[in-house]
Amino acid sequence: MASAFLLDMTRCIGCEACVLACKAGNELPVEMQYIELIERTSGTFPNLVGGFENHRCYHCTDAACVAVCPTGALFKEDGLTRLDRDACSGCGYCVQACPYGVPKMVGGRSSKCDACASNVGAGGSPWCVTTCPAQALQFGDREKILAEAKSRVAALKDRYPKVQVYGETQAGGLGLVLVLPDDPETLDIPADPPLVPVTVDVWKHIVQPVSMGATALAAVGAGVLGVIARRNHLAELKELEEQEKAGVAAGGSESTEEER
Ligand code: SF4
Ligand code: SF4
Ligand code: SF4
Repeated sequence: MASAFLLDMTRCIGCEACVLACKAGNELPVEMQYIELIERTSGTFPNLVGGFENHRCYHCTDAACVAVCPTGALFKEDGLTRLDRDACSGCGYCVQACPYGVPKMVGGRSSKCDACASNVGAGGSPWCVTTCPAQALQFGDREKILAEAKSRVAALKDRYPKVQVYGETQAGGLGLVLVLPDDPETLDIPADPPLVPVTVDVWKHIVQPVSMGATALAAVGAGVLGVIARRNHLAELKELEEQEKAGVAAGGSESTEEER
């Protein structure tokens, strides 16, 4: 079953309870943060409208970060994008590849929301969802989350003429489905995030295995050459030993002759 989050930006009041709950619940160090809120004002005076950008992992089905990760530290599970920081080599490819600018390098390793994998795995809910006082966040079966997003949009049409669901199709379908009061660009969200470039797929699935194969072949080759060199060396030592023995034997017989 694919899981997903609902983030209703018509309800988010920018209280930052989710930010703090995420940091505390996941015991994140001070410099690490998986949710970022930015206050913004739109419109022209005197018709200014205040609001928030709420940046966090979008859990793309076709996740560019997963596609480029050479170590498997980033991977898909239950429709969500997980990160095993212990397996991260710190190459930074995911930081460059993500169309939403989500992964950040912290302490030489990638850092991003893993959808509270351990907490949810133990039967709990993501900390941010549990804490949100405005019912802006929900978590559950993706089909149900999508249905909830569509029903909220239908109910909000009069209040927000441009209200829309974001995430049904973007990047192969997102694991974070948003209810947006306006066009995505107004909240600094790409309307149509680029898909994983073909070059990335070629690099990941063809060039990288071939180069790893070449490295392995080089290692095997070096090993074979080493064995051959060792064998030659042992043969030389044996030959010297035999020559030495033969010399001693000859010397021994000569002195015996002299003694006579
Ligand atoms: S920085 Fe880590 S998680 Fe990101 S692509 Fe490299 S190995 Fe993978
Ligand atoms: S799902 Fe968990 S890790 Fe992700 S933002 Fe919410 S609290 Fe943080
Ligand atoms: S806890 Fe809920 S209302 Fe508060 S900032 Fe987070 S998403 Fe918005």
